[in-house]
Amino acid sequence: PGGGPRMGEVAVVGAGLTGCLLACFLARRGYQVTLYERRPDPRGRPPERGRSINLALSERGLDALRRIGLDGQVMAGALPMRGRMVHPVRGTPGFQPYSTHGDRAINSIGRGALNDALLAAATGRPGVRAVFGHRLTGLDPASGTMTFQTEDGEVKASAPVVLGADGAGSAVRGRLLAYGTLTETVDLLDHGYKELTIPPHDGDFALDPGALHIWPRGTSMMIALPNPDRSFTCTLFWPADGPGGFASLDAPEAVERHFRAEYPDVMPLAPGLVEDYLRNPVGTLGTVRCASWHAEGRVGLIGDAAHAIVPFYGQGANCAFEDVVELDRCLDAAGDDWAEALPLFEARRRDDTEAIARMALANFVEMRDKVASPVFRLGKSVEHALERALPGRYVSRYELVSFSTMPYARVRRRVRRQHQVLAALAGAGTLVLGALAVRAARGGTGGRGT
Ligand code: FAD
Repeated sequence: PGGGPRMGEVAVVGAGLTGCLLACFLARRGYQVTLYERRPDPRGRPPERGRSINLALSERGLDALRRIGLDGQVMAGALPMRGRMVHPVRGTPGFQPYSTHGDRAINSIGRGALNDALLAAATGRPGVRAVFGHRLTGLDPASGTMTFQTEDGEVKASAPVVLGADGAGSAVRGRLLAYGTLTETVDLLDHGYKELTIPPHDGDFALDPGALHIWPRGTSMMIALPNPDRSFTCTLFWPADGPGGFASLDAPEAVERHFRAEYPDVMPLAPGLVEDYLRNPVGTLGTVRCASWHAEGRVGLIGDAAHAIVPFYGQGANCAFEDVVELDRCLDAAGDDWAEALPLFEARRRDDTEAIARMALANFVEMRDKVASPVFRLGKSVEHALERALPGRYVSRYELVSFSTMPYARVRRRVRRQHQVLAALAGAGTLVLGALAVRAARGGTGGRGT
């Protein structure tokens, strides 16, 4: 880089989902974009083993893709999941639809295919280039000078605007922390995750591909999402340590015994399960909060780099895609003045990203524990009945998060209000019943007195 016109140049660090989508949006605005990615060129390579293979894409992510005309291509490889299939330890699995009429779906998408499609869309636009094998190790926010570690040693580059789309462990965030303009908290969960595979069975899906499968086990759980090759990718969310945790289950016999006891219906479907388990890495999960997301009017953070969340609402990538749409709007509002647009972006997104961070944490308890309870199922039926009775007036949190683009913070406020009204109605109901009982009792007394 260097030598050419400096105006309108943006360096995006990280060619993951956020970085590639961001490059598409910026190129559309007329920017010259260079994507710097630490990994080798992923195009045509097999996906990394044991690292989140697929993800659930819902309305927020689709809305962003629609804006650059990529929704059709991405959805062509998607598998719609219309609800949860809950697998008890013993007995028949039960289906719980996500929407009132059971017609709305979240979509299982291959992460590699989605990243490839976004990368191709970005680099297919004039003004975008991608540089692989470049790991950012240094950044001077005052000048926009970046240092990269490459196979050929250290390389320097600079740009008037540098955006960190380099994920939860963001090096750009790390440089802003060292620079002194940023503070952060990283709350790691006691649970980690590990991926396993259920291969196709006689050439077909071994489980219903129209559902997201959950094996809720109280303090831990397993989920499975379908893939276009008719396999399922299972993800274990288990405690890192302690009984039933990853650390205590490291011998083949113990692993097999545990699966036979806790996930008996999975064992016959996944012959390579124990080998998968022993070979695949354990990933960490956590919530990253930091401020400020920008420095010197030219460096900014976006996506997981700014606000990584736990994956239990299936919203991390959806939220990151929504970030890109919002940054585009902020550039509109600021007339492409980055020193104005970056603070505006943080101001507009902070409450929303905090809201989804909290909802995602709360959903872990719902998925691993509550979905198995009859009381929860009854509650869901009542909720769906209310949604049918009060269309548009009562809408469940799941619907608002997954099937709308209502800002996350508004979703939280609205759901809280709905619950307050319900509690008041339930209270009023109790009062009415109480009053009727008292009247009936009085009526009885009066009758005896006359
Ligand atoms: P990343 O995907 O982490 O991409 C960052 C990129 O930057 C990578 O390509 C990386 O190689 C590169 N990079 C990192 N450091 C450097 C450096 N120093 N220099 C240069 N490049 C660098 N979200 C959903 O919406 N739905 C789901 O169902 C879902 N399921 C999930 C399940 C699991 C188990 C996990 C862990 C996450 C899940 N997520 C889900 C969240 C989703 O994966 C993330 O929110 C999303 O990947 C964020 O995209 P990103 O581009 O910001 O970060």
